[in-house]
Amino acid sequence: MKDIEIPFESLKEAVLKGSRNGCNELVLSGGEPTLYPEYIIELISFAVTLGYRKFIIQTNGYGLSKNEELVSFLDCMAETTEICLSFSIHGHIADIHDDLSGTPGAFSSMMDAIEKISRTHCKIYTNTVINARNLIHLKDVAALMMSYKTDIMQFSMMHLNEKTELSVSLEDSVRAIKKLKDIVSLDILKTEGVPYCLLHGMESCVGESAWPTVLDLYNKDNDYMSDFKQLDHGMRRKMENCNKCIMNKICMGVWKEHFEEFSQMGIHPIV
Ligand code: SF4
Repeated sequence: MKDIEIPFESLKEAVLKGSRNGCNELVLSGGEPTLYPEYIIELISFAVTLGYRKFIIQTNGYGLSKNEELVSFLDCMAETTEICLSFSIHGHIADIHDDLSGTPGAFSSMMDAIEKISRTHCKIYTNTVINARNLIHLKDVAALMMSYKTDIMQFSMMHLNEKTELSVSLEDSVRAIKKLKDIVSLDILKTEGVPYCLLHGMESCVGESAWPTVLDLYNKDNDYMSDFKQLDHGMRRKMENCNKCIMNKICMGVWKEHFEEFSQMGIHPIV
């Protein structure tokens, strides 16, 4: 659901194609999928009939805070299937979150949505893209979410083609992530864009290891891509000597824009 210009019938066709390819988990991202509650309701209802058993909705929470019918539907579905709401949290306070999302009031509606979802059978995931504004506040973000029953708390490396004033180094990000283990259980702490060799003792936190082995992708720009692999598409990179690493088969390396820094860090393969 990257763009509402995708006709709903095309989304349904993609879900059907995924089912025929053996997919049984569906991630809805955007844009903001909750702005189209009728799409979510119809698409999940349809996917369940095809045998899908897990749904992740990546959201800023806006539509959930405004639409009781959608929340009730998701709660009802979550009694028999796995429904996960993955909230994009940019900061622990409105000042940071609203600024980074570019929407005044965004923090307030997100927290309202989290509060509502916390009273349902749905699971709460969070994703925080690490940047220069929130780098020193990752513990605050984690502390904020500890008061809810959060199932996964993910901290992701930003990946933009060009550096901006919000860009942060891999090294600084990893340092901040490692400090989180003092307050977040390693069972729920996850990362994205950080390989195993940078997370000694926290290897279970590498979020990519929980990804399905086969990932089909559908969006307006790219149509339907079967068995999409970020490494094959040049979005990720690994070092030449990664072939000596025991994690090589399952490791997805770093985002390509962090590769130069990564290759200069003197990292050795895990043997
Ligand atoms: S395969 Fe390469 S990038 Fe991945 S953990 Fe091993 S050394 Fe690091």
